[in-house]
Amino acid sequence: MLDFAIIGGGPAGLTAGLYSTRGGLQNVTMFEKGLPGGQITQSSEIENYPGQIEIVTGMELMDKWPEQCQRFGLKHDMNEVKQVTKNGDIFSIKLGNGDIVESKTVLMATGSVPKAANIKGEGEFFGRGVSTCATCDGFFYKNKDVIVIGGGDTAVEEAIFLANICKTVYIVHRRDAFRASPHEVAKMDKLDNIVQIMNHTSEEIIGDNSGVIGLRVKDKNTGEERTLDGLATFIFVGRDVLNEPLKQDDGSFLCETNEAGEVIVDLSMRTSVPGLFAAGDIRIEAPKQVVCAAGDGSIAGIQAISYLQ
Ligand code: FAD
Ligand code: NAP
Repeated sequence: MLDFAIIGGGPAGLTAGLYSTRGGLQNVTMFEKGLPGGQITQSSEIENYPGQIEIVTGMELMDKWPEQCQRFGLKHDMNEVKQVTKNGDIFSIKLGNGDIVESKTVLMATGSVPKAANIKGEGEFFGRGVSTCATCDGFFYKNKDVIVIGGGDTAVEEAIFLANICKTVYIVHRRDAFRASPHEVAKMDKLDNIVQIMNHTSEEIIGDNSGVIGLRVKDKNTGEERTLDGLATFIFVGRDVLNEPLKQDDGSFLCETNEAGEVIVDLSMRTSVPGLFAAGDIRIEAPKQVVCAAGDGSIAGIQAISYLQ
């Protein structure tokens, strides 16, 4: 029987592990299906984590977090959590390997995954030129032309990263203004090898046996279509929260969620179910920042201790 089961090992889950174990809980396990660190490990650079003045990659930022948590007793179980249910006061956690673990409190810190753009060819060429990770796949296109779809912080930052490696980066955005912060857009504006294709929709990723060869785009003002040549299409059009483990056998969610599936919490990261907390990108109104996810995790860790007392 665990005191505290943490689902997800990103900034929120790791920080909850640190605060709960350092605060005295003995029996805390973090279930993380991969290596701890979370989605920020896919980021090419992070420059807004307080105190971290030198720009580092997401992987570098997260490198020491697991070690710090484990020093105070956090255990890491490399397993996917399939479902969380509650019977009486106790939660049951069904794992990917078929095991069932019981816990007195649970934190959902499963974060989010890249959203699909729902463009023709996206599924067919995924992994053969279609990618959602510039840090992972950018190098395969050294000195080649590539295409980025999206207009948020991720698209703009990753376009800048790709511009260092690739010959030309086309960034295709469906509106005439970027959603990304003005600071990032100003950085991009200075780069000659990023070509901004504004007010265009992405219609089809075109490829052949070798993989992606281009993207067909449509001008929203004139309706005119043309094909951008590029050997990869990087898609950064937002994220979907990962709430699957909360789904019950009857299709309902274990706790209250909003229309987007984000978990409704109060300022103590408490959900509508006593003993169940949610933190980081999965919660309502998440600012989707590492520092905020870590802050949420610390609150959830402290609150789990209070709940058990
Ligand atoms: P996540 O980081 O998503 O971690 C969730 C973890 O849960 C993952 O490791 C996942 O494997 C695991 N998991 C999910 N489901 C299960 C399950 N069922 N069982 C077991 N494990 C599971 N933020 C900034 O502050 N500054 C930046 O510069 C910045 N740049 C970014 C660049 C990119 C490319 C991306 C993608 C994001 C960026 N962000 C940035 C946002 C930031 O990464 C997130 O806000 C933050 O990582 C959210 O943390 P989290 O712990 O809530 O979730
Ligand atoms: P986002 O902010 O939701 O932006 C998604 C972008 O994709 C928007 O520009 C959107 O267009 C566009 N889009 C959505 N669906 C589309 C579709 N089907 N086809 C074409 N374009 C589509 O997502 P994000 O950039 O991944 O960022 C997620 C969160 O993480 C944000 O809160 C962001 O601030 C944060 N983040 C922060 C940093 C940082 O602090 N440095 C870095 C990365 C991410 P519209 O603009 O028209 O809606």
